[in-house]
Amino acid sequence: MIKEEILDLKKKKGVSILAHNYQIPEIQDIADHLGDSLALSRRARDLDADIIIFCGVLFMAETAAILSPDKKIIIPDPKAGCPLADMVTPEALRELKQKHPDAVVVTYVNSTAEVKAETDICCTSANALEVVNSIPKSREIIFGPDRNLGSWVSAQAGRDLILWDGYCIVHQMFSADRIRELKKEHPGSVVMVHPEVPPEIINESDVALGTGGMIRFAGDSDSNTFIVGTETGMVYRLKTIYPGKNFIPAFSGAICRNMKKITPEKVLRSLKTLGPVVTVPEKIARRARSAIEKMMEIK
Ligand code: SF4
Repeated sequence: MIKEEILDLKKKKGVSILAHNYQIPEIQDIADHLGDSLALSRRARDLDADIIIFCGVLFMAETAAILSPDKKIIIPDPKAGCPLADMVTPEALRELKQKHPDAVVVTYVNSTAEVKAETDICCTSANALEVVNSIPKSREIIFGPDRNLGSWVSAQAGRDLILWDGYCIVHQMFSADRIRELKKEHPGSVVMVHPEVPPEIINESDVALGTGGMIRFAGDSDSNTFIVGTETGMVYRLKTIYPGKNFIPAFSGAICRNMKKITPEKVLRSLKTLGPVVTVPEKIARRARSAIEKMMEIK
C-alpha cells in the first residue's frame, strides 16, 4: 500500500529516488537507482531530474548536493549520520596538515562537507587505490578518516601513508574465527569483504571490494557461493541481482543503524513535503567540489 503510494507520488512529482546498497529491502525496492556512493554521486549529477530523494546517510546526500547545486536534494532523515565521517573534524585535519605542509590530503567520501573542503582529492572504496597511485611517489599522503581502507591501500600501492585513526563501527564487527568457520561449512565458497574491515579480516578473504565491485565480481565469478563481509543490506542486493547464487553474511549483526533510519514512511513524508532539503554553504561546497571532481577525473 505505502509502496504504491510512493511510486505514484514520485511519478506525479517527477522525483527520482536514489538508494545506497545498504538500504533496507523496502527502500531498495522503490528506488529508481541503486549503487555505491561513487555511482550514486555520479548518477545524482547526471540525472535529468530537478528533485532527488537520497536514501543513504547524510554525507552521501551532501556529496550529491555539492555536485548538483541546481537540484533539490532531499534526505528523508537528516539524523542518518555516519560515525566514521564524524571521526575527523576540519580543525583536527588542519592541525595535521600543518605538521605535514607538503602532504597531499586524500579523504574518503565518508566525510563531512567541511572536511572535504580541507581535502586535495577525495576517494571511495572503489577508486582509493587509483587515487593514491595518481599522486607522485615523492609526495607524502595524509589519508583519512578510515584507517582500515588506508592500510589496505597502503599495502596495495606499496607506499606509506599518514593514516587517520578512524574506522567504521559496522565493519569493525567481523571476526576472523567466524569467517574461518564459514569457509569450512561452505567449501569452495568465495569470501568477499569490504576494505573498511580490519586487516586480519582482509587476510581471510579472497577479494576486497567496494559494494559496486562486489556486484560485478559475483556476476563474473564461476563460484556459486559467496561469504559477504560488509553491511548486511548488500546480501539482499546481491540475492536480488543473482537469485541463482548463494550469499551468506559473514556476520548477520553487521547492520548500519544509520542506513536503516530511512524507512518507507519517511520517504513518503519527504515526497509529500519535498523536504528536508540538504544544503551546503557555497563557500564550503566550492572547495569540496574541487576535491570530488578531481577524484572523478581519475575513475
Ligand atoms: S556502514 Fe559504516 S561507513 Fe557506512 S554509513 Fe554506516 S557507519 Fe558509516
